[in-house]
Amino acid sequence: MLLAHKIELRPTAEQADYLARACGSKRHCYNQLLGHFKQNGVKWSKAAAYQHYIKVLRPQFPWYNEVSARVTRNAIDDLDNAFKHFFRRVKLGQTPGFPTFKKKGVGDSFALREKPKFDVDGRTLRIEKLKTRIKMRQTLRFTGTLNQVTISMRAGKFYASILVETQDYDPHAPDRESVGVDFGLKSLAVLSDGTEIPANQKLKANLKKLARKQRHLSRKQPKSNRQAKAKLAVAKLHKRVSDQRQAVLHELSDNLTRNYQVITIEDLNVRGMVRNRKLARTVSDAGFGTLRQMLTYKAELRGVELVVADRFFPSSKMCSACGQVHEMPLDKRTMECDCGNVVDRDLNAAVNLNEYGRAALLRDPKRTQEPSKTASAASVMTA
Ligand SMILES: [Zn+2]
Repeated sequence: MLLAHKIELRPTAEQADYLARACGSKRHCYNQLLGHFKQNGVKWSKAAAYQHYIKVLRPQFPWYNEVSARVTRNAIDDLDNAFKHFFRRVKLGQTPGFPTFKKKGVGDSFALREKPKFDVDGRTLRIEKLKTRIKMRQTLRFTGTLNQVTISMRAGKFYASILVETQDYDPHAPDRESVGVDFGLKSLAVLSDGTEIPANQKLKANLKKLARKQRHLSRKQPKSNRQAKAKLAVAKLHKRVSDQRQAVLHELSDNLTRNYQVITIEDLNVRGMVRNRKLARTVSDAGFGTLRQMLTYKAELRGVELVVADRFFPSSKMCSACGQVHEMPLDKRTMECDCGNVVDRDLNAAVNLNEYGRAALLRDPKRTQEPSKTASAASVMTA
């Protein structure tokens, strides 16, 4: 399956200059070719375009050499596609729309479609003729064979859209392999596959009740009968809340460790979170520290990997489609990225966490080797 991942680049000034020149060369070459084949009596063919490119354009514009030769040569493929669309529409009797000249600043891009011309390593991208590697805002989401990279320029920013031929990922299959878990403000947890685990309403109601009773207690006269009675009521309710909380956390940690091989959660500073009232999430009612302990021992018990994301990983602020980081105040429930991605805040965070965990395991081969060892041991035993 062919999948694309668009990642924002962080080029140095020198790299940005190269990328902008490559975009410019590609546009120039495309327009030169189109100008030639627009003339009366000049018929478009890819072979004729290649001849014109080699014999006329390259000698006439020696500065094409400053960027990878593929950048300008790929303009032939692009124009070929534009002509194919044109001819198809003519055939179908639709309004044809002859290929048009490219304008500077509108859809500026260039592509490298050949394997040795580029590669990706971690958060860096190498492209031909550029001596230094370009930093990317994100690691590549998919593993597999790199097919092509398209670098585009928009509003002064550069993006790399990387096409990967992958075997290991099928978004339509139920993905039970790995999961990212975001502990939401509204619900107890949101999983990267879109599952929402609602907050336990009984627990929520009892927590409110408990707070009320504690207020009542504080108003009672010290050492009075009424105070003793109120104290007992608070203690009883406290016990019930605590039991309910344990049950909720056991259910969630069982559910996760039974169904997924890799679980990625955030590293929440629990104390900081509870201190900041706004951040006191549903799960802090339920006890994040306890949940983390439960997940840790149950993961070990069931041979599951638990990945805890770095505290500074911007799971809620980063667009899960393109990697741009946005300001996301807590009242903002939906992320609307200018890449076109519109997604629920918690789901976006869960997807980011899942990708974080998968990438973390890929970087650490020791951890990924273990399951295969046990798998071969199991097959030996059954043989
Ligand atoms: Zn985006």
